[in-house]
Formats: sequence, structure tokens, C-alpha cells
Amino acid sequence: MEFPFIEKEDQEVYASLAGEEKRQAEGLELIPSENYVSRAVKEAMASSLTNKYAEGYPGKRYYGGQEFTDNVEILAIERAKKLFGAAYANVQPLGGANANIAMYFALLQPGDTILGMDLSHGGHLTHGHPVTYLTKVFNFIRYKMKDVETGEIDYDDMLRVAKESKPKIILAGFSAYPRELDYAKFVSIAREVGAVAVMDIAHIAGLIAGGAAKNPFDYGFDVMTTTTHKTLRGPRGGMILTHDSEEIAKKMDKAVFPGFQGGPHMHQIAAKAIAFGEALHPSFKTYAKQIISNTHAMAGVFKAQGARMITGGSDNHLILLDAWTSFGISGGEAETLLDHAGITLNKNAIADDTRKPMDPSGIRFGTPAMTTRGFNEAESAQVASIMIDVLTKRTDVATAKEEVKKLALAHPIPESFG
Ligand SMILES: *Cc1c(COP(=O)(O)O)cnc(C)c1O
Repeated sequence: MEFPFIEKEDQEVYASLAGEEKRQAEGLELIPSENYVSRAVKEAMASSLTNKYAEGYPGKRYYGGQEFTDNVEILAIERAKKLFGAAYANVQPLGGANANIAMYFALLQPGDTILGMDLSHGGHLTHGHPVTYLTKVFNFIRYKMKDVETGEIDYDDMLRVAKESKPKIILAGFSAYPRELDYAKFVSIAREVGAVAVMDIAHIAGLIAGGAAKNPFDYGFDVMTTTTHKTLRGPRGGMILTHDSEEIAKKMDKAVFPGFQGGPHMHQIAAKAIAFGEALHPSFKTYAKQIISNTHAMAGVFKAQGARMITGGSDNHLILLDAWTSFGISGGEAETLLDHAGITLNKNAIADDTRKPMDPSGIRFGTPAMTTRGFNEAESAQVASIMIDVLTKRTDVATAKEEVKKLALAHPIPESFG
């Protein structure tokens, strides 16, 4: 993307923007929560809607001049509902964390309990990490995997804990879990203890929208929260979807505005509407399926090498690799080394990690961004081989970097899809 006005008027910022464009074009993005948006999505984000105050909801705003903002927000809501089979959608949350915060306050009183995934087993910061203020207000308790090698959740223990501590929310969802959950079990436990079943689909929203992963609403989940910028391939932002309860949907709306936010970012909401339109296109189904095929191809290469992947592999867009056991290198060192080779991913704690959080045993990586660039299975396997070369040899980073750049440049970041 070009920035002719910024280049003329603000050289300092321009240098960073131009640098980032080049970094993204020449490197390989393997962070599983990142993606490349279309030019249409970028145009919406750069539009004059950023000038507009629109506190409230369509038809019920606190300022005048809303004929176009109302239209755009309604488009985003209707498309979101269609994509996920929801009866209600709130497209105003500024990010995934904001969506979760509003969701908690909509459903809970201070002191209430949430049963969520253990953080070291794949849960997200907003699922009750002690560094968040959420833990000062609510009581978070945990379920875990029964077997780290297969990824199976311990549903019996989950039921036992739920009966004992009467959570108001049973929270599913993850940032670092490579398998599908047994949604029916979550819902049955939630029903048994009178909790609301919530799934945070931030990571896999695109897989669900593209029909490549199961839709939790089909199994009776009440609410889904999500980001819009990960596999869903839209602008940075969040969203709350309600399955069928109008009462819950109303609580969500109140919690988002005026509960936690002021004016919605209408330029982002326009970009969300465009991204949802793209995700409704048949080609998005092909994209979502290819993400998983590419992950399988990468997992196959690591498996053949005898590397240890948490849960033994992956059924979605991400792999959590025990770099320490597999290659005798810490997650932090692996991240740095691969970064030097032009491969961007992140260090990540693994279940029951024996190393410190600042330099854990694992690395987490995935295929959504490179699949957007058009990588197929063979090329994904090639990326995995380059990674293994770097992690085992460690000296030949320059050769790897050349190879990575060649692969990246052979697959320019597309401006539109379909
Ligand atoms: C990324 C993520 C979030 C937070 O999204 P932000 O937009 O970064 O605030 C919340 N929940 C899960 C499961 C995530 O993966």
C-alpha cells in the first residue's frame, strides 16, 4: 500500500509504515492470530467514517447525521448473523478483549464464578489470568486436558467442578489449543448447573464461518464472542453473537454501550461489514478448508521428524510445538532464531510447562496468513522443513532467510479474494 500524503507530510511515521509494508511482503507470517485483509477492508478503515460519532445503536443514536452509519452497522449485523447462524449480533466491541469484558459484565454480578479453560492448556488472558482486573471482580476456576498427548478435555472433572462451584458461565474457547472441543458436552454441563454456555471463537471464527469447523450454536451454545481480525480476515475488532435469547442479547448491547464503550468505531464497522461479505462468498469456504489442509501438511513434517506437538498434531489452524523437548531449544530462542530467518511466530507456554513464562518450552504457529497468500500443502510442508533446518542447524539462518524470501515473493499478498 502506498501512502503519498504521509510520505509528504510526516516522514517519521512514513518510515515505519513503509518498513512494515516491506516486512510483511518479504517475510512469512506464521502467528496464528494474524492475517492479511483485503484492499476493500483497508479502504473502509481509511474512510471518513472515522470522523463520525454514533453513540447508541441503529435508529437509537445520541447524535444526528446517522443515515449512512446506521446503514453500515445494519449491514455488518445482518451479515454476521447470517455467517454464524446467530439471532443477534453486536458489532461494536473494539477488540476481542472488550467483547469478553462486556460479555462477563452482561451475564454476571461481581463475585460470580466462571469455569474456563486452564491458561497453560490453551485459554486466553481474558479468561481469568491473574494479571487482568477481571480477576479482582470475578472468580475464575479451571478445567484442563485429561491427556496432553491427545488433547482430550477432562469432561468428567469439568462436571464435578461445575456441580461443586456452581459457575454462572461455562466458557469454552482458546488461543493455543489445536483440537475441536466436544460442544455437546459443554452445553449439557452448562444446562445441568444452570450456567450460560459461552464460546470464545476468536481464533477459529473464520474456520466456523467457512464451514471447516463445527459451529457451537448448532450444539446449543448461548453466546459466542470473537475477534474479527484473526482467521475471519477482517479489520482489528470484536463482536458478540447471541444464539436466540433476546434477553441475553439486550444485556450484551447494554454492556457494550454505554457499559464499557463510548462512540463505536464506524470505519471499523464498515470494514467488518465488508469482511463479513467476503466471508459469505463461496471462495471463503475453500480458504477455510485450505487453512486446515496446510496445517495438516506442516504437522506431518514435524511428526515425521519425531517432534513433539501438544495433542499430537492439529485439527485447526495452529500447532503448538514443544521446541525444548523436540529440538533442545527454548521457545524464546526458537522465536528469535526463526525471526532472523524471516519466519514470524511466537513463543508459547505448553501444558504443565517446566520452563518460565518469559522463556517457555513451546512455539505456536499457524497457517491462516500464508493460506491467504495462496500457499498449498507442498509449500506449507516446505516451510515446516525450513523451520526444522533452522531449529536443528541454527547456523545457517542466512540461507533459510533467502529461501523464505523467495517463497514469500512468489506469493504476493493479494489485494482481493474470490
Ligand atoms: C485474541 C483473543 C482475544 C482478544 O482479542 P483482542 O482483539 O486482542 O483483544 C480474546 N479471546 C481469545 C480466545 C483470543 O484468541
